[in-house]
Amino acid sequence: MSKKFLIVGSGFYGATCARELTDAGHSCLVIDKRTHIGGNCYTRYIEEADCHEHHYGAHIFHTNSEKIWKYINRFASFNHYVNRVKVSHKDKIYSFPINLFTLYQLFGVKTPEEAKACLAERKEPIENPKNMEEWCLANVGREIYETFIEGYSLKQWARHPRELPASIIKRVPIRLTFDDNYFNDRYQGIPIGGYTSIFEKMLDDIPVELNTDFHRDRETFLSKFDHVIFTGPIDSFFDYSVGHLEYRSLRFDHQLVNSSDYQGNAVINHTESQVPYTRTYEHKHFDMNFSATNSAVTYEYPDKWEPGKIEIYPVNTDENQSLFEKYQNMTKEVSNVTFGGRLGQYRYYDMHQVIASALEKVKSLA
Ligand code: FAD
Repeated sequence: MSKKFLIVGSGFYGATCARELTDAGHSCLVIDKRTHIGGNCYTRYIEEADCHEHHYGAHIFHTNSEKIWKYINRFASFNHYVNRVKVSHKDKIYSFPINLFTLYQLFGVKTPEEAKACLAERKEPIENPKNMEEWCLANVGREIYETFIEGYSLKQWARHPRELPASIIKRVPIRLTFDDNYFNDRYQGIPIGGYTSIFEKMLDDIPVELNTDFHRDRETFLSKFDHVIFTGPIDSFFDYSVGHLEYRSLRFDHQLVNSSDYQGNAVINHTESQVPYTRTYEHKHFDMNFSATNSAVTYEYPDKWEPGKIEIYPVNTDENQSLFEKYQNMTKEVSNVTFGGRLGQYRYYDMHQVIASALEKVKSLA
């Protein structure tokens, strides 16, 4: 039987649900409180630089799943962009993620064997590392820690790695080959024409109301629809009744610069604590189109999150996890609402993961 669905949020979770439920014969209305579709994957065409600005941070589509790759290719063609990040630290540029070329730049080693021996020598003898700093010194040594981790983590989390749990870092991937592809996945690229056109295609025949906050009219929405798919923050749905889940936020400073190629790469990480931004992106490198004489560049600054700011990274502490569990228990009382996506499930999801999660969920809703 055909049902009426309200989908709150036009990011990948909401758009995938809307597409699949519509194709299964249901009627859907998508609302979003922002002025545009696409959630955090929204891109904006910058005419002067002839490229698409990743408005909420650099987004590279990557997946190992043939099914997801085929699915997303229904809505876009992808270029052959491969993410090869560079790190800027004290007037030097390093290859990243850490690979044999990075180790050559740091220590002069040229073969995997030399690199292995060099790393073993640099590890500090710390038994039972108690925090992120000790864990890094014990596992990768001081040079790597100071060049790539200390300043960056301090900026990203606004706390010194000595005050952060070792569990945040888990491992520092070090490749003993010259492979500098950031991702290990089989499929990777940037949609030609930007991400927004993917959402335009996904939502082509589906009504979308922008500038529409669910909370402003929640009782009407809840009464008018058979089922609601909510991709906003789970704690906002329950009016923060047991507290606010914490996030780390980012601030993006978008600039148009008078240069045909400003930094020679799409993404540069700035790992010194004295440099206030963490990353710079030059968007024409994502599009692989160098025709314009200007360039669109974004400076990414870590930002303290407070209500009203963009919720970016869930803060993975025991307190937040137990708060999230309380909210999850409360969802049992609202059986006609599905909570999905990165905010609805309070976890970091890549795009391919959020699409996969939505495709799985709609099987039980369609
Ligand atoms: P969102 O995209 O956040 O969409 C949720 C939508 O719900 C938003 O549009 C919001 O306005 C709307 N909403 C919320 N509350 C309400 C309300 N009350 N009423 C109406 N609307 C509401 N993934 C990758 O695969 N590769 C990458 O390189 C990558 N880079 C990233 C870089 C950054 C800086 C960030 C932050 C994320 C990155 N991601 C990347 C992850 C990617 O952004 C997410 O996987 C994706 O955006 C999740 O989609 P979503 O639909 O769950 O959430």
